[in-house]
Amino acid sequence: MNNGTAAALHGVSKTYQTRGGTIMALDGIDLDVRANDYIAIMGPSGSGKSTLLNVLGGIDRPTAGEVHVNGARIDALSERGLLDVRRRKVGFVFQEARLMLSLTAIENVMLPTAFVRTDRADARARALALLDKAGVGGRADHMVHELSGGEAQRVCIARALAARPAIVLADEPTGNLDHKTRLDIVGLLEDLRGEGSAVVIVTHDPEIAARADRRFAMRDGRLFEDALRH
Ligand code: ADP
Ligand code: MG
Repeated sequence: MNNGTAAALHGVSKTYQTRGGTIMALDGIDLDVRANDYIAIMGPSGSGKSTLLNVLGGIDRPTAGEVHVNGARIDALSERGLLDVRRRKVGFVFQEARLMLSLTAIENVMLPTAFVRTDRADARARALALLDKAGVGGRADHMVHELSGGEAQRVCIARALAARPAIVLADEPTGNLDHKTRLDIVGLLEDLRGEGSAVVIVTHDPEIAARADRRFAMRDGRLFEDALRH
């Protein structure tokens, strides 16, 4: 069904109407993300990187063009349908850890599996295995406020994987972290290929981009492959 493609954008544009006029956040984007791809996107602030991830993951809709996730077209889905795609097919990692403060680390990781038909004990075992892999197995029963910034971000990555998404979208996930934690987090994202999820990471860090399978640069809402190489 998904013939090796985790997600795709075909002729995707996104405009915002503001009082200052029309902003072209995405300007005719074509992108094929293959299963197990590890893609890095770089570009100046305001070039459309977050908008691209949001459209790819069903958080936002394009103004024109098609969005496909896991073999299904999603841009024309209802709100309810989009929510379902976000829950079942996509894992998000943002710059700041966005965790439910009233839950423990492992409860946060298990949250996405609440919407998927899984045995609770299996879901708990997988959550613990993912926390272990992320290096925070010992923090499973800690409340969110008891975690450091780096630990919280590791929990977010474990959560992004819990429902075995087709694609993980990471928007500057290492922006606020120290060097060691940054490399650990990136190592984790790289390992995801072994988990069967494609990864798209937006980063300002050339060292991180250099490790990706494919590199893109964004500028003024347009995407250029390998424009970073000289
Ligand atoms: P990046 O992540 O590369 O910094 P964004 O995707 O956040 O860029 O933004 C791309 C462009 O779209 C910018 O000019 C930004 O100001 C504009 N933009 C983003 N979201 C909105 C919005 N909700 N309303 C109006 N303009 C927006
Ligand atoms: Mg951004």
